Amino acid sequence: SLRVPAKPVIPFIEGDGIGADVTPVMREVVDAAVHKAYGDTRAIAWMEVYAGEKATRVYGDDVWLPDETMDAMREYLVAIKGPLTTPVGGGIRSLNVALRQTLDLYVCLRPVRYYDGTPSPVKAPEKTDMVIFRENSEDIYAGIEWAAETAEARKLIAYLQAEMGVTNIRFPESSGVGIKPVSREGTERLVRKAIQYAIDNGRKSVTLVHKGNIMKFTEGAFKAWGYALAQREFGAQPLDGGPWMRLTNPRTGDDIVIKDVIADAFLQEILLNPQNYEVIATLNLNGDYISDALAAQVGGIGIAPGANLSDSIGIFEATHGTAPMIAGQDKANPGSIVLSAEMMLRHLGWIEAADAIVSGLSGAIKAGRVTDDLARLMTGAETVSCSEFGRCIVAHM
Ligand code: ATP
Ligand code: MG
Repeated sequence: SLRVPAKPVIPFIEGDGIGADVTPVMREVVDAAVHKAYGDTRAIAWMEVYAGEKATRVYGDDVWLPDETMDAMREYLVAIKGPLTTPVGGGIRSLNVALRQTLDLYVCLRPVRYYDGTPSPVKAPEKTDMVIFRENSEDIYAGIEWAAETAEARKLIAYLQAEMGVTNIRFPESSGVGIKPVSREGTERLVRKAIQYAIDNGRKSVTLVHKGNIMKFTEGAFKAWGYALAQREFGAQPLDGGPWMRLTNPRTGDDIVIKDVIADAFLQEILLNPQNYEVIATLNLNGDYISDALAAQVGGIGIAPGANLSDSIGIFEATHGTAPMIAGQDKANPGSIVLSAEMMLRHLGWIEAADAIVSGLSGAIKAGRVTDDLARLMTGAETVSCSEFGRCIVAHM
């Protein structure tokens, strides 16, 4: 586990667009929370590193993800980042994807919890309290795909027809094709992290969300491998003959139920019975949809935090994009990156500072002094700027 000095160096990427608005606010809130919790005995030594548009300004035209930035992540193991502009054209699909692949950040962690007073489209948003473990390195999302007009697509289709016995699909000339890799290793390391999280945090269930009824050898295998891992490594036993399982939390003695739900049914369940779900383990694409749907239930991407994790590295990040329409106007909601920092403090073991951020943010929202994205959906709320919202959070710690 992580050894954390009293004054750890934490690299941060400011981010493009509203990154320049929200990241400085996040740093002020974190500094205040750490000071509140520990006085002068602990502090974060912030170190700016560059990525995205800002990197091209510092390093030159084509340098979107400098080696120095990657080296800092490898050296300091914990980092935080704002949203990044992805270069148009060129070989980079997405800087976020490049970062995840290069550092093998195979877990995308998205906690979804409700802060009292936040506007929500559902009647009882406080029933939603989930942590999503989204597999980040495999699935159709891995980007192994070819456009319809390419020779590669034609070649792959010809191979499937001639050598692989694929005869039930017509493949018109205009077919693009993609590959959906899902491995046992990839599934196991994700599900292992999710079950361990449930144990460490006293959660009562882990739900495998998949579309295995249709995609049997990818999503169906994910489900089967997940259950098998729970049994083999955590001693889970079939519940009433299965397929659900039960294990005993070695820390608390309580039961943890391992279950599974088909992804489409799960999207109904999060609206109808969210209280039945706590820890979610799912594949990359499902996880993408589920994370944003759940975020909307508790206030939207403006305050939804996230992290990308490998076995050694944790990069905490705002889940929204660069929102260029409101960039540089001190209007954006800093909540997403502030709550990502809150996760980061917990990851460092600085629980008291993390708690200070939670109470500060809850207080600011309950006081109805929030940024425009929330204020316009709340009755009686006052719109404050991004930086003023940060000061409100600090004032309520
Ligand atoms: P990108 O191309 O980088 O994804 P985007 O404009 O699509 O940029 P998103 O994060 O996808 O950015 O957000 C979509 C919209 O949601 C934004 O245009 C903005 O109106 C709103 N939004 C997103 N994040 C915030 C925020 N932190 N505060 C306020 N509004 C936000
Ligand atoms: Mg976007």
